[in-house]
Amino acid sequence: MSGPLEELIEGSQPGLGEIEVKQGRAADVGGIGVLRVLPTKKRRTVGPWCFVDLMHPGDLAEPPPIEIGPHPHIGLATATWLFDGSVLHSDSLGTEQLISPGELNLMTAGRGIAHAEQGIEAPAVSSGVLGAQMWIAQPDGTRDGAHHFEHHADLPLVDLPTGHARIIVGSFEGVASRAAVDHPAIGLDMTFEGSVEIPLHPAFEHAVVPVDRTLKVQDALVELGAMALVPAGHQTLRIEERTGNARMLLIGGEPFGADVKMWWNFVARTLDEITEAWRAWQDHDDDRFGPVPSKLGRVEAPTPPWIRAVEAR
Ligand code: MN
Repeated sequence: MSGPLEELIEGSQPGLGEIEVKQGRAADVGGIGVLRVLPTKKRRTVGPWCFVDLMHPGDLAEPPPIEIGPHPHIGLATATWLFDGSVLHSDSLGTEQLISPGELNLMTAGRGIAHAEQGIEAPAVSSGVLGAQMWIAQPDGTRDGAHHFEHHADLPLVDLPTGHARIIVGSFEGVASRAAVDHPAIGLDMTFEGSVEIPLHPAFEHAVVPVDRTLKVQDALVELGAMALVPAGHQTLRIEERTGNARMLLIGGEPFGADVKMWWNFVARTLDEITEAWRAWQDHDDDRFGPVPSKLGRVEAPTPPWIRAVEAR
């Protein structure tokens, strides 16, 4: 495994005029199939959200256990959100935290942190999306700062006329999650039947991420593995489904602004910053990333493509 991000993600991202459907792609993280919804073509961020993987091992009788050994992060917060099973999180702060569906593990990397994730309880079902691994980019004010970890088991649940919404981060219908993020953002886990119309913060851009079936977002059809991007300026959003109780994630926030560069597990602004973090991980720099209390083997970093290009000369 060399993922998550094998390619350097950079370059400008065009503004959004209308609701736009973006197809994700299938990838593999530690032997587990994922649907990578973000980043995608010409779109790196939705608000501060910069990475969304849906864990989707496929229709296997026995999906392989989640075993992602110690690996580093910089410049982002990881938001782990499960739909099934349970996972033990360990990190270089010394944290060991079991997470179950409906709970949030929010790990803010700042200048550097390392963590591991190990499946403890096998999923009850052997198909569908088991959970989401999402990253929230940190702004310049905090991205070189301290790392920290939060676990939230009591996130607010808001009733909708045809379903409900769990508030992962941000606020919705006057109710706020206590999870601390560094840039204005929202993250909801919604279920509904038939159709739902939800209020949006008009200064936020949003994405609707289906979790179990095709949805209609205003007039656009969005399948599992894709997302509907909704530009800022919308006051409400109408979402429909035709085949039963639907589940989806709604993410968004104030457009991030900064020109993020992402490679492997790092979010930064320049290649030099990524190279420095890569070297620190290669050199087992415990001042920057620290040891992780985990029995799993450490994940070694591949060589960044821009270093490989120099070495090949
Ligand atoms: Mn990670």
